[in-house]
Amino acid sequence: MNIILLGAPGSGKGTQAAKLQGAYGLAHISTGDILRAAVKEGSPLGTQAKKYMDAGDLVPDEIVIGLIKDRLAQDDTVKGFILDGFPRTTAQAIALDEQLSDMKRSIDITLAIDVDAEVIVKRICSRRFCPMCGHICGPADGEFCPLCGAKLEQRDDDREDVVRNRLEVYEQSTAPLIDYYRGKGVLCMIDGDRSVDEVWADVRDAVA
Ligand code: AMP
Repeated sequence: MNIILLGAPGSGKGTQAAKLQGAYGLAHISTGDILRAAVKEGSPLGTQAKKYMDAGDLVPDEIVIGLIKDRLAQDDTVKGFILDGFPRTTAQAIALDEQLSDMKRSIDITLAIDVDAEVIVKRICSRRFCPMCGHICGPADGEFCPLCGAKLEQRDDDREDVVRNRLEVYEQSTAPLIDYYRGKGVLCMIDGDRSVDEVWADVRDAVA
């Protein structure tokens, strides 16, 4: 099963992708995670990507498309994959179609997780992450990571001004992909403005 998770930043794509990975053993491919790892490593790709990410802008298509081509060529994707945060532009969606068609594969379902923009701003701005183990926390977790005890931090791109820009970029560049995948007959809309478990129940039904 090959799945795309579409949705604005903070819509809960990453959380649902992790649940899908756990339930179905699919490869979880998050371009945001790949890019953040490159930034942390200080690789040339990371240095190039960082300025776009810090501003909440999209990293240029050719960079991200190259990353995904390499990632889809890895063996663990053969049993199926979840794309989380890719594609984000029509050019990326077309490149993905070409790549999958060359590999004699296709997308089975695109889940579009829908959440109101103001709910997202509140959600993301209160989000913290653990710089040691990567765990994502909410306001209830306090100042320290519940898993490893490190002091929690805010991601540079989770500040309110950056979040508002990320939402605008989503509306302009990524939201049109909802119609793109509806046109291909593989779209399923999910109401993301509910608890993680309620959203998961719909996600599981949709892929079953
Ligand atoms: P995410 O964690 O998916 O919200 O991604 C964090 C940041 O990485 C985004 O705000 C973009 O700057 C960059 N990024 C992630 N995926 C893509 C993509 N498919 N195309 C362009 N930029 C991306």
